[in-house]
Amino acid sequence: MSATAEARNETHHDPDVAAEAGRRRTFAVISHPDAGKSTLTEALALHASAISSAGAVHGKGGRSGVTSDWMDMERSRGISITSAALRVDYDGCVLNLLDTPGHADFSEDTYRVLSAVDCAIMLLDSAKGLESQTLKLFDVCRSRGVPVITFVNKWDRPGREPLELMDEIEQRLGLHPTPMNWPVGIAGDFRGLLNRESGNYTRMQRSSGGAERAVEETMDAQRAAELEQEAWTQAQEEMELLSGLDADFDEESFLAGVSSPVLFGAALPNFGISQLLDVLVRLAPAPRGHRDTTGTERPVSAPFSGQVFKMQANMDRAHRDRTAFLRISSGRFERGMVLTHATTGRPFATKYTQAVFGNERNTIETAYPGDVITLVNAQALSVGDTLYEGPKVEFPPIPSFAPEHFAVVRAVDSSRYKQFQRGIAQLDSEGVVQVLTSDVRGSQAPVLAAVGPLQFDVVKHRMENEFRATVELSHLDYTLARRTDETWAPTLHALSGAEVMQRRSDSELLMLVHNKWRLRVIEREYPDAVLEPLLAGG
Ligand code: GDP
Repeated sequence: MSATAEARNETHHDPDVAAEAGRRRTFAVISHPDAGKSTLTEALALHASAISSAGAVHGKGGRSGVTSDWMDMERSRGISITSAALRVDYDGCVLNLLDTPGHADFSEDTYRVLSAVDCAIMLLDSAKGLESQTLKLFDVCRSRGVPVITFVNKWDRPGREPLELMDEIEQRLGLHPTPMNWPVGIAGDFRGLLNRESGNYTRMQRSSGGAERAVEETMDAQRAAELEQEAWTQAQEEMELLSGLDADFDEESFLAGVSSPVLFGAALPNFGISQLLDVLVRLAPAPRGHRDTTGTERPVSAPFSGQVFKMQANMDRAHRDRTAFLRISSGRFERGMVLTHATTGRPFATKYTQAVFGNERNTIETAYPGDVITLVNAQALSVGDTLYEGPKVEFPPIPSFAPEHFAVVRAVDSSRYKQFQRGIAQLDSEGVVQVLTSDVRGSQAPVLAAVGPLQFDVVKHRMENEFRATVELSHLDYTLARRTDETWAPTLHALSGAEVMQRRSDSELLMLVHNKWRLRVIEREYPDAVLEPLLAGG
């Protein structure tokens, strides 16, 4: 056995892997556009000293960002499509922040990222509370058992009452809020944060320019009362109310997704960011073993395994290839390892593996459970695929999400039909859109199903530029899909305002329906019909 092979073999029993996994916190931010996700990401990175000044994380507003072919499209539409992972070291921990693309036109990618995290930060705008996209993303977290930490942002601006926001979270999400800190001074006249656990007060002072770390001064209650007077008294009264509401942090219910620790703050002037980081390090779960397709839990210290959660084409103009983002489930990753691709049984070389850190793609040598690695030259891989070392292991597929937009796609030039077919199959395997077919419609004009309409733009753009097959899309008047079975398909297909099609990727039969009212009528007429909602938003 060569020295490296021997060293690798030892990793099978390497206690370091469990310790390294224990230092990881892999999470994403879920929010509605404009709540402050980019600002918060920058603030977290700034506090954790990953980057020297705020502004280098996102590709928004002319700031530097991840370069890709999509940048043209991103720029023209002012949105961020690329999904990267930001890694920061903080207080002995490695924080992996997976970026969720966050525009009204968001796509299935946004959801898939949530299958690769151990925790989510639900970011709310203090003036707006829960908004539509936050609700959808929260549903995904709940269905996947991802625990949620809540951060109420923009407290430096006029907003809602903190108790009212707590009530909204409880009522609309059925999520029990357990505030970790409490704002002193109303939204818009933010003075500081009272730490509910220690009883200490952290007074905030604005820093110039907003890009610097806020000056935070911690003091005891007596001094705080002298300084803040009425605002302090009011916060004390609200805290008393809270103590009657069973609002203390409870680890078990947090991990079960029943309760959520809540923090107040303001990302822009960097108020309360260190508290959020501390809560992440202290309370967010470290990576745990994942269940494989046999239902066996594979411990983090098992030999290397990981699952692809996102595919991306042409991130780098110089390399016209496909990149896979893989989250490590178990074992130690060392660059150069030859892994096995579970779907095909073929070897996969990792010589060019990189880690994506914000705008930089660094070559990495070692990585551990919870870390995200990017595999270039990943033409053979698809979303959900497993790579492993040693005896075979495979993880269950990442569920696809409920599409809400449907369109027929056709090749404009019929002499390019072969390229058209190849392109559509490729985009399907990458999970860019879901492809539906039926005998009635024929294979010349499949139906594309998407979570957000932006996915259709991506299809058009890539079909034309990558596969040289210009396509035409005609939108269909459906907004919902339900899973059905072979017994019910003919009956449902014959109904007006509905149509049954087969999803190519998994052969599931889906009934497309115009709207929820039509669906209700069908459900009432056929109470025994198999009509199962798809995940999230369906
Ligand atoms: P995203 O769409 O969620 O990524 O939101 P951005 O981070 O781009 O923020 C949207 C807007 O809200 C920007 O103008 C930010 O400067 C502003 N913003 C973000 N956080 C705060 C905050 O804590 N206080 C205030 N006053 N503005 C904020």
